[in-house]
Amino acid sequence: MKKNIKNILVASNDLSLVTFLQEKLDDRKFYFILATSYEKMIDLIKNENFFAAVVDFNAKNKSGERYIDFSITKKIPTIATIDELTIDAHSEIINYPIIDYAINNHLSGKGYLSDLLKGLEYFYNQKVLICQRDSSNDIPCTLSIAFGSLLFQPILVSSKLEALDILKYDSSIKIIYTDDILDDGSGIDLCKKIKALYPNRELLIFGGSKDEEENYLSYEKIKGEFLKSGATKFLTKPLDKERFNTHILSMMNFLKQKQRLDTYVGVVDKYVLSSITDLAGTIVYASEAFCDISGYSKEELIGSPHKIVRHQDMPSSIYQELWETIKSGHSWKGEIKNKKKNGEHYWVIITIEPIFDHFGNQMGYQSIRFDITDRKRVEELSITDQLTGLYNRRKFDEILEYEFNQWRRHNKTFSIIMLDIDDFKHVNDLYGHPIGDKVLVQTANLLKSMIRKSDTLCRWGGEEFIIICPFSDIKKTMNLAEKIRESFKEIDFELVGNKTISLGITVVNDTDENVQEIISKVDKALYIAKNSGKDCVKVG
Ligand code: GH3
Ligand code: MG
Ligand code: MG
Repeated sequence: MKKNIKNILVASNDLSLVTFLQEKLDDRKFYFILATSYEKMIDLIKNENFFAAVVDFNAKNKSGERYIDFSITKKIPTIATIDELTIDAHSEIINYPIIDYAINNHLSGKGYLSDLLKGLEYFYNQKVLICQRDSSNDIPCTLSIAFGSLLFQPILVSSKLEALDILKYDSSIKIIYTDDILDDGSGIDLCKKIKALYPNRELLIFGGSKDEEENYLSYEKIKGEFLKSGATKFLTKPLDKERFNTHILSMMNFLKQKQRLDTYVGVVDKYVLSSITDLAGTIVYASEAFCDISGYSKEELIGSPHKIVRHQDMPSSIYQELWETIKSGHSWKGEIKNKKKNGEHYWVIITIEPIFDHFGNQMGYQSIRFDITDRKRVEELSITDQLTGLYNRRKFDEILEYEFNQWRRHNKTFSIIMLDIDDFKHVNDLYGHPIGDKVLVQTANLLKSMIRKSDTLCRWGGEEFIIICPFSDIKKTMNLAEKIRESFKEIDFELVGNKTISLGITVVNDTDENVQEIISKVDKALYIAKNSGKDCVKVG
């Protein structure tokens, strides 16, 4: 056999079966080799190793029986295919020590065959712990043969103690069978003990007992107790091998789906910034990735209100809109700045969706976010003035355009203040550029502290700043400008001492055709202020 490739011998004249299996098991490492005659089969088995054989029980001239016999003699796990399951064929086929049989004349029969092959690949060499009292007894033997024939590796013990000892040292065991009566107690006790000792281990436990008609009630009780004590399935003895195989295959499908789901959930938890809150916004789930980015542990986040990550820079209007949207049953998407535990921030693009119960009632909200901090940083850099941290001219142009449109469409007025430090050149000339820079930074800080949250402050260039004040008439703007002028005069700049500024102000009005006209108005006003002896405010 080539490495990892499992050869499957198909002894049959039915080429379509091979095609079917190849298609169905396309993603597996199976290699199907067809033997269309007994001689060919002998030849192939001589030269190749086979993981399993699929033999056609109904092959012409009694070849089918010879196929099975030979395959079994060569100890190849064998599955038979039957064209039609007559009573005779059934009683004949179940006497062969084969894994199972599949009915070949319909699609679901062929499907069962491919499931069996998948199962064999999955079960191959997996350990099964079989706990039963008397392994010389015919019944327990059947169970280990049944597991063995599905290519499991059975480990036989007869007491709870041995079973627990093996489980302690071998974490690869995932399937356990236990009888109800063991050497040193009951299998139900063993079941409880295993569940208590390994609550987080993925274990499938089969409980089993003899199905005795005269003792029907106690048998039903044992079954109930097993299933309520952590057993996944209950088997009856004597074992019905056909039922056993389908049981095991359905368990395999369940396990595989669960594994797939667990892997998926694990990946989501690790890499996706997700959280779930109840209706009041209290966090009930936080993924590992979300914990990582926010700097909080799962314990800290779960039970806390979602606003634990809210950043003061985010206007509350955004949250208002968000809550209105999700409460009305819709999803909300937007860019949000969040705060980490250590005070730093990160940006996310977030989608929040309401989650509903079976009756359509809202139960809470689920959020998925993507970290866009890097993009935001680049964006921020492109609109920020490096020295002062204020918006630069590019951002100013954007906001002015926006405000101008608001004025045009909704008549929302706004005003502009443009200011320029008087005789700033002297500062540089007398004290050097770095001291000049300090004056600029201090000026920016003063202006920041004097404007409203809705105002926009930008560095216009050099030692010139500009402020957009929405909803302000000329009187209000004049008041603010005067206050700024006076406060600026009060500042005692290190080494430099006191300085003054000149300011131009203007309010948007009906004659303004575009933003350039507003700028030129305010620029003129500032020019007049400069020509009027500086340290004053002029209206344009
Ligand atoms: P006025 O009262 O007419 O405004 O005179 P002024 O000296 O302030 O005006 P002028 O335009 O002649 O000079 C502005 C100076 O500002 C010139 C330039 O070197 C300085 N400047 C521009 N940007 C910066 C900066 O980023 N840092 C420093 N330190 N100086 C700057
Ligand atoms: Mg100046
Ligand atoms: Mg200037």
